[in-house]
Amino acid sequence: MTAPMAALRKTTAEAGLELCEIERPAVGPGDVLIDVQRMAICGTDLHIYEWDDWAAEAVPVPLTLGHEFMGVVAEVGDHVSGIEPGQRVTAEGHITCGRCRNCRAGRRHFCRNTVGIGIQRDGAFAEYVSVPEFNVYQIPDHIDDDTAAILDPLGNAVHTTLTFDLVGEDVLITGAGPIGLMAVPIAQRAGARHVVITDLNDSRLKVAEQLGATRAVNVGGPDGNQRLRQVMDDLGMREGFDVGLEMSGAPPALSSMIDTLNHGGRIALLGLVPDGTAIDWSDVIFKGLTLQGIYGRKMFDTWYKAAALLEEGLDIGPIIGRRYPLTDFEAAFDSVRSGDVAKALFSWG
Ligand code: ZN
Repeated sequence: MTAPMAALRKTTAEAGLELCEIERPAVGPGDVLIDVQRMAICGTDLHIYEWDDWAAEAVPVPLTLGHEFMGVVAEVGDHVSGIEPGQRVTAEGHITCGRCRNCRAGRRHFCRNTVGIGIQRDGAFAEYVSVPEFNVYQIPDHIDDDTAAILDPLGNAVHTTLTFDLVGEDVLITGAGPIGLMAVPIAQRAGARHVVITDLNDSRLKVAEQLGATRAVNVGGPDGNQRLRQVMDDLGMREGFDVGLEMSGAPPALSSMIDTLNHGGRIALLGLVPDGTAIDWSDVIFKGLTLQGIYGRKMFDTWYKAAALLEEGLDIGPIIGRRYPLTDFEAAFDSVRSGDVAKALFSWG
């Protein structure tokens, strides 16, 4: 019997969450127990809260949510050798099998047996979370606690944005949620010429401008695509975008991306477009487009690149939002649901 702790959990197979008291997680011989200090809400958490079709299929109940977090090592298992109590850490949220072909070839982000922290096993919206040593990432001193809590989505942004060579390229980002916004300064730093971002929400687009977007375009309404074309003209883009980063999961955004890409253009797809979405396949084929699906982060190449970008001055400050106590989780989820740009964080104080 271990000491009880607070945890934000899905307790029944329906919408909603419950703040519970449960036992501290067990620490296996290869595990690290992390005293969680700060947490952030991901779009995935919202799906689990709402209990949509995806969640009902993918998520076991009961489950403690949360995979964006940072904390301090509280305890290590007997076989752990590289991590010590007291270190500031976060964790890669995908626990991979280590045995499949991709894992053995060093392509762990393609593991077919991935288990997600806070998705298929108990996560970090709790006082403590237990994760395998392999997944633990020691936080460099130059990264503050709030930023450290969102290294997971920053990693998504880094992985997506650096998929294709951006030096001198014109880049279109569709979707100005937290990850799309993070992609703006990353693309700039990776050498892009113009970085144009689209969304339907003016307050998000304003943040995109603060983050250095060449142009932030509201593509809402019947004239939306025309406005994007006008911006391309204004910027002297005669042939189309070279690289697209799809961060919205919205079918019209993907269509407009395929339409405005130059021949030979490349698209990295992070947004989860609904199954059955139709696209203009003749454009894909005749323009010779490359479509690359993106999942998670490269382990752990993406983590090193993200840390280095932050060290060199990458500023994602405008995306870091309000902190809520975990007891106020309903208000925090409401703020995410409202389409507010800023990332909602949890802390204990
Ligand atoms: Zn594997």
